[in-house]
Amino acid sequence: MRYFAGIDMGSTAIKIALVDESEELAGHIVAPTGSLFQQNTLAALRILLQEKGLSRSDVAYILSTGYGRKLFSEADETVSEITANAAGARTIAGTASIRTIINIGGQDSKILLLDGDGHIRNFVMNDKCAAGTGRFLEMTARNLGTEVDGLGELHRRCSGAPLAITSTCTVFAESEIISLLAKGHQRDEIVAGVHYSIARRIVRLARRIGIEDGVFFDGGPALNSGMVAALEDELLRRVMVPAMPQLTTAIGAAALARAAWLETGAPINA
Ligand code: ADP
Repeated sequence: MRYFAGIDMGSTAIKIALVDESEELAGHIVAPTGSLFQQNTLAALRILLQEKGLSRSDVAYILSTGYGRKLFSEADETVSEITANAAGARTIAGTASIRTIINIGGQDSKILLLDGDGHIRNFVMNDKCAAGTGRFLEMTARNLGTEVDGLGELHRRCSGAPLAITSTCTVFAESEIISLLAKGHQRDEIVAGVHYSIARRIVRLARRIGIEDGVFFDGGPALNSGMVAALEDELLRRVMVPAMPQLTTAIGAAALARAAWLETGAPINA
C-alpha cells in the first residue's frame, strides 16, 4: 500500500495527514511549529510514520501547504493553503452542502466562497491583524491563566452578557483584559467577549465577498465551542464543524497529493 502526505505548515502548528490509495485517512499528527520549520516538520513526520509502523519509503508523494510550505525541502510539491483548504472541505463534507468556508488560523483568517463543484469562486484574507485570529485566543488564555482548550468551557459558564472588548488591536486588548480582571469581572464573561469580538471581525471580513448558506468552519479555533457559538450568533446561521477542524487543510493537501500521483503525475498549480 502506498501513502500520500499532506503537510500544513501553519504559523502555529504543523499538521500532517496521511491518506492511503483509497483516500482513507491513515493517520494524522499536530505538532507545534516553533522556529525550526524543516526540523520540526521532519520530526513530526517521523513520529507519525513510526506510530503507524510505516517508513519514509511508504510515502509516495508529499505535498506541503500553509505559511511555511516552501521551507520543507522533502515536499514533492507545494500548494497554497486556499487550494488545500477547499480540497479538504470537499474531501470531508462533499461538494453539495458547502458554499462558504471560514478558516481561522494562528495568525490569519480567511473566507472562501465555493461553487457547486467545490471550486473556489472568491476569497478574502486577513493576515495583517492578529485581532481576528487564534493568536488573540492564545493571548486571552495566557492572561486568564488557562489554555486555549479551556476557553470553550469558560464561555459555556458565562450566564450573563458577554463583556464588550472594544480594543481593535491585540496589544490594547491585552491591557483591556487585564484591566477588566482588575475591576473584578469574571473570566467567563471576558472569554465570551473575546469570542464575540473575533466573530464580529470575521463576519465583517466575510461580508466583503458575501456569505452564502452552507458554512464550513475550520482551523484550530473551530475546536473551541465558544468560538463556534459566537460565530453562529454573529452569522445568524448554523455552521458545520468537521470532527478534526485543524486538519482540514492537511487532509486536502494529502488528497491532492494522492490525486497528483495516482491520476496524472502532473504538478498541481500552487
Ligand atoms: P495555523 O495553521 O496558522 O498554524 P491552526 O489552524 O493550527 O493555525 O490554529 C491555531 C490556533 O488554534 C491557535 O492559535 C489556538 O487559538 C487554536 N487552538 C489550537 N488547539 C486548540 C484546542 N485544542 N482548543 C481550542 N483552540 C485551539
